[in-house]
Amino acid sequence: MDMAASTDPSLLALDWLADFPAIPQGWAYLDSAATAQKPKAVIDAITRGYAETYATVHRGVYQRSAEMTVAFEASRGRVARFIGAASPEEIVFVRGATEGINLVAQSWLKPGDRILLSMLEHHSNIVPWQLAGAEIDVVPLTHDHRIDLDAMAAMIRPEHKLVALGHVSNVLGSVLDAKRAARIAHSAGAKLLLDGCQAVPRMKVDVADLDCDFYVFSGHKLYGPTGIGVLWARAEILEAMPPWQGGGAMIDKVTFARTTFAPPPARFEAGTPHVVGVIGLHAAIDYVESIGLDAIAAHEAALVRETRDALSSLNSVRLFGPEDSAGIVSFAIEGVHPHDIATILDESRVAIRAGHHCAQPLMEYLGVDATARASFGVYSGRQDIEALIRGIERVTRIFG
Ligand code: PMP
Repeated sequence: MDMAASTDPSLLALDWLADFPAIPQGWAYLDSAATAQKPKAVIDAITRGYAETYATVHRGVYQRSAEMTVAFEASRGRVARFIGAASPEEIVFVRGATEGINLVAQSWLKPGDRILLSMLEHHSNIVPWQLAGAEIDVVPLTHDHRIDLDAMAAMIRPEHKLVALGHVSNVLGSVLDAKRAARIAHSAGAKLLLDGCQAVPRMKVDVADLDCDFYVFSGHKLYGPTGIGVLWARAEILEAMPPWQGGGAMIDKVTFARTTFAPPPARFEAGTPHVVGVIGLHAAIDYVESIGLDAIAAHEAALVRETRDALSSLNSVRLFGPEDSAGIVSFAIEGVHPHDIATILDESRVAIRAGHHCAQPLMEYLGVDATARASFGVYSGRQDIEALIRGIERVTRIFG
């Protein structure tokens, strides 16, 4: 495949790979949708957090803890600005998107509430609602694998309390028209929760502009640490929500007879938080914004275009998802299990994901057990696509 012929500037001009010490030369890391590699700036911030400035937050009366508390709360403010929240108090630190959705399901939803999900949701945006006793209706996909908002508009009824949708699909890369989804949800009196796991690393997100009501994402897919994530909700929604976990830091006054609770966000942050995770998340946001989300989106769009073009020229390959998918390309090769594809690619030092991608209902809808998935990050480049295509040519030779 001759990719040198391409003149796409966003593929030629950018080289952020050098910022990532855990990506050795010659290793094509194409699993960023599972978790992103970490830039040195984030690793350094985490190291400093433990090696120089470490202390707990919110409790200590000594200087070090006071300084760490300032840094911790500064990160909350940074996250708020990053996603266009009205105030830092709207930012709840959680372990990740999974915990954020569980929090909303346990605290905001009432058992028996009817909700709308889509066919492409990650298990994290299905199972928590089931555990909380929701009645679930499912919006289908369009023929090009987007959430079908026309169908949603026809399905939604006043009984629907919530619509919860993936902003970007982790399997298909399809990007939701979130503003339209918000209009449809609100027209029926429902709230809109967006699962932003795959969106925040690859496009500018402004929750005020999107007009959603809840937004969740995980730090580790945004080049930050594992174990830290964000739930955003409008202040008035958070204020009306009861706590979901009890413990230290979330209370106002405790007696054996009765406990009163702190206002949000503390009300939802029981226990000692992931202090250094929060510091690392701040560094991750600084890092992506130093590049610019628009530049990242253009970079990944160019990579997706080249990958889809190259894969579609191979006869036996079936592509999933829309042409303009964001940073993620799922595919299958006729007669070859995706696990075999991934295993053979790994021998050529190409790391992709194969499986159901925590989206079993979507797999059933697509009529497959699994897909192979290549996903990109800022460090991805043409060399990775070339390695992927060489590897796939080898797979097709091996399987005849
Ligand atoms: N939603 C989507 C769309 C995802 O891609 C993921 C991670 N694969 C999750 C939710 C869950 O994120 P986490 O495991 O970090 O909580």
